[in-house]
Amino acid sequence: MKFKTFILSAPSGAGKNTIINEILKRRNDILYSISTTSRIPRENEIDGSHYHFISKEEFKKKIAAGEFLEWALVLDNYYGTFKSEIDKIFSRKKHAILDLDIQGALKVKEENSEVVLIFVMPPNMNELKKRLQERRTDSEAEIEKRLKLAEKEMEARQKYDYILVNKNLNETVEELDSIISECAVVP
Ligand code: 5GP
Repeated sequence: MKFKTFILSAPSGAGKNTIINEILKRRNDILYSISTTSRIPRENEIDGSHYHFISKEEFKKKIAAGEFLEWALVLDNYYGTFKSEIDKIFSRKKHAILDLDIQGALKVKEENSEVVLIFVMPPNMNELKKRLQERRTDSEAEIEKRLKLAEKEMEARQKYDYILVNKNLNETVEELDSIISECAVVP
């Protein structure tokens, strides 16, 4: 049995985290790869669960030590995936699901064409803004930055294997579930 890597990217606020949580509840053959970041934890975030939170200095040391499968600088913060995180998942005989920005996703795909890239789109930009505001985790300035980045990110979606438009959570989760089942089948 070969275990697969599924990478989800989406503009912040498109509903990606909810989709990932739902898929993890549904399937017992896939585990979430916990990323590492130098960003400050949001109020509801737990170290070692949502992210491994470390300082910028520590992050740079780990880059130099070659500990990352990929890493990227997103809105002035470092984000990355430890090689050991993926090894841990595969050693537990599970597929891996990763939440990466576009730079990280495309880099992993370049090195391993077998990874499956999935892009999650918000229904439209107004809806995205509304979701970011309702989330109440980011300041207005932060939200504006994220919206600008979202427009740029959405241009890259053509490079992905699948594009999901998240109009309805249940339907999107269904679609992702089918993609995973299809891709996880060993020929
Ligand atoms: P947030 O600050 O909203 O949690 O995440 C900001 C961005 O960083 C999102 O686009 C998310 O997909 C991306 N991101 C999270 N973890 C990683 C990672 O390990 N590597 C890369 N390249 N991007 C990540």
